[in-house]
Amino acid sequence: MQQELAKIVGDAYVRPGSQFVYSGEETFFADRGSVECVVQPASADEVAEVVFWCYSNDVTITPRGGGTGWAGGAVPQGAGVALSLERLTAVRSFDPLRWRIEVEAGVTTATVQRLARENGLYFPPDPGAPEESLIGGNVATNAGGPHCFKYGVTGDWVTGLEAVIAPGELIRIGGPTRKDVAGYDLVSLMTGSEGTLGVITSVWLRLIPAAGPSLPVAAFYRDAASGAAAIEAVMSAGPIAAAIEYLDERTLQIAGGGFPGGVPAGAGFLLIADCDSGEADRAALREALAEGAIAEPTAPDDPESLWRWRDGMGLVVASELGTKLSDDIAVPLDRLAEAIERTVEIGKQHSIEACSWGHAGDGNLHSTFMLDPNDELAVRRAVAAGDELMAMAIELGGTISGEHGIGLAKNGWLHKQWGGPASRAHEAIKQALDPKNLMNPGKKLT
Ligand SMILES: Cc1cc2nc3c(=O)[nH]c(=O)nc-3n(C[C@H](O)[C@H](O)[C@H](O)COP(=O)(O)OP(=O)(O)OC[C@H]3O[C@@H](n4cnc5c(N)ncnc54)[C@H](O)[C@@H]3O)c2cc1C
Repeated sequence: MQQELAKIVGDAYVRPGSQFVYSGEETFFADRGSVECVVQPASADEVAEVVFWCYSNDVTITPRGGGTGWAGGAVPQGAGVALSLERLTAVRSFDPLRWRIEVEAGVTTATVQRLARENGLYFPPDPGAPEESLIGGNVATNAGGPHCFKYGVTGDWVTGLEAVIAPGELIRIGGPTRKDVAGYDLVSLMTGSEGTLGVITSVWLRLIPAAGPSLPVAAFYRDAASGAAAIEAVMSAGPIAAAIEYLDERTLQIAGGGFPGGVPAGAGFLLIADCDSGEADRAALREALAEGAIAEPTAPDDPESLWRWRDGMGLVVASELGTKLSDDIAVPLDRLAEAIERTVEIGKQHSIEACSWGHAGDGNLHSTFMLDPNDELAVRRAVAAGDELMAMAIELGGTISGEHGIGLAKNGWLHKQWGGPASRAHEAIKQALDPKNLMNPGKKLT
């Protein structure tokens, strides 16, 4: 296999599969992968040739971006090739005056954000590992982030893409046009497909003029219920928040030491809302957040360090006991407080420490079970608690994934969420585009 693939990409770009860096990921599932070899094509044409060879020889393909995923999607299962997109780094076209850019799948999220910023523009999706995650991975997971509350998730910014589908054909769908309703919405179908329908090789993205500077407001509440009520007050006050993030009581105990200005006594819940539309809107936001707060909301004067602190939350919580099993359920906003409280209850029932933080405005929780990775009983408890969390999300009318996708982590749950004809429609699409089930098998639909 390696010799055949080397004829396409060159000897230097076919590596043995034992290279752990290409079989793992940021998750709990990182040590579960194995693969025969890693292939690193340099162009969309080479990707097509690799896929053609794999498809002709019944070899499975696991597409891989930056490996920052949190659902085990890039963790290969058993055999085949890990197909890394990291060498597809060209900016194919950038037209700042028309607010659009076409980049190859291996360009980092941070590069897209920086190119936009340097030209007075803005690419709003802001998943939390921008220096490592690749834009192809962002589109394949339909990634979110704090500012998706105001601006929408990655898919809302994709106007077209190029992908290789079975048995090795390059397709281009959508493009620089801002509107295109001609066909079935294949761009959206590929977006969030987690490598199970094809390999994305480049994407056309929409940009907008730069937003104003970040003007955050922070407010503490006694509990999740009063915090959730404040979110509703913010929403009814008008379209002024660019992001609304929360930390629950246990997360505050773990990470609150790093919060600028400290955490007031009696605080059991923190909301941080961002405003990027000027001081008048920030004042309105502050007023709305005051409802039910235990102290006057504050306006931190160093937004950059505040957001850095917020971005590091996952690592800080993971280091409490050694690791964590963290999920990304999302629920309707009127069930948010209940979901936060029940996350802690589920932890108690399974004798495992639980907490949550996340994108409150989107009803998106990073419900987390903390554990020592060497404690097998704790691992089993965390997995059981994770299952109960999925069931709760469905019961509350929400979803098992608001951000990270299904991957391996939530195997089996998609069918429980959708069931019946909707599940069968999913399977029919997979069968039509990947009849041999060689595209990232064992993920999303299993
Ligand atoms: C510190 C940290 C913070 C994070 N914060 C957020 C957050 O706020 N919001 C959020 O949504 N996520 C977040 N994530 C998760 C992760 O960064 C995103 O899911 C990201 O979009 C994954 O991109 P990647 O390039 O690393 O993809 P990978 O992890 O390599 O792959 C993810 C999935 O996409 C598939 N894939 C990758 N590239 C392609 C391609 N070109 N074509 C087809 N399939 C492909 C893979 O097979 C896999 O199924 C965070 C992760 C970390 C480590």
